[in-house]
Amino acid sequence: MKKSFALQAFAALLLTAVTAGAGLYHVYAARPKPAFSLADTGRNTMTLVLDPGHGGADGGAVSVTGTYESQLNLAVALRCRALAGLYGIDAVMTRESETLDYPESASTIHAKKVWDTNARVELINSVNNAVLISIHQNKYTTPSPHGSQALFAKTPGSMELAQRVQANLSQVTGESKRTAARIGESIYLMNHVNCPAVLVECGFVSNAIEAKKLEEPDYQLKMAAVIIGTYLGSI
Ligand SMILES: [Zn+2]
Repeated sequence: MKKSFALQAFAALLLTAVTAGAGLYHVYAARPKPAFSLADTGRNTMTLVLDPGHGGADGGAVSVTGTYESQLNLAVALRCRALAGLYGIDAVMTRESETLDYPESASTIHAKKVWDTNARVELINSVNNAVLISIHQNKYTTPSPHGSQALFAKTPGSMELAQRVQANLSQVTGESKRTAARIGESIYLMNHVNCPAVLVECGFVSNAIEAKKLEEPDYQLKMAAVIIGTYLGSI
């Protein structure tokens, strides 16, 4: 099942690469040798950790179409894992499904969220030479904002990786007005991991056009291809 998904993802990636407006081929083939490498942060080997934001009792933002953010995050993250797998890279996932098992002591939604966040931080910090990519979707109170954004932790390497993710996302989506930014202090997970960490807001679920795109498997794969392509070019 995992293998056929990977093959399916690969076939779809080729199709996406050929048909995508900007063309992934151009992004990766034409890019000069990177001036930045995550190896500069003192890591000899890297372990990719994918964090599909929210899940379980925490659906995250709700799209204008009624879809939970957690579902979109998982869809993109699973495609990231499949694409990384094609390059022989096994990713550690902070979750692999929409349902999560909680201890009995976590009886309220708040308690469940706290338990889950702490468990994810513990997992991420237990991985040797981890590089974290957390997948989320953005939401705003008005319908017009749109576009992807890469946010970075304060740990070494995070800003550089986010800037590269942002540049590649901007090129592929044709949206260039957003820039990579430091994550807010209120995002607990991103402020408590000790590895290079980037949170990718793939798009705005409050924007009708983008929300629809984010539900399309091809678009999810495109996002995943940019994220994994950037990761591969940074290690
Ligand atoms: Zn989120």
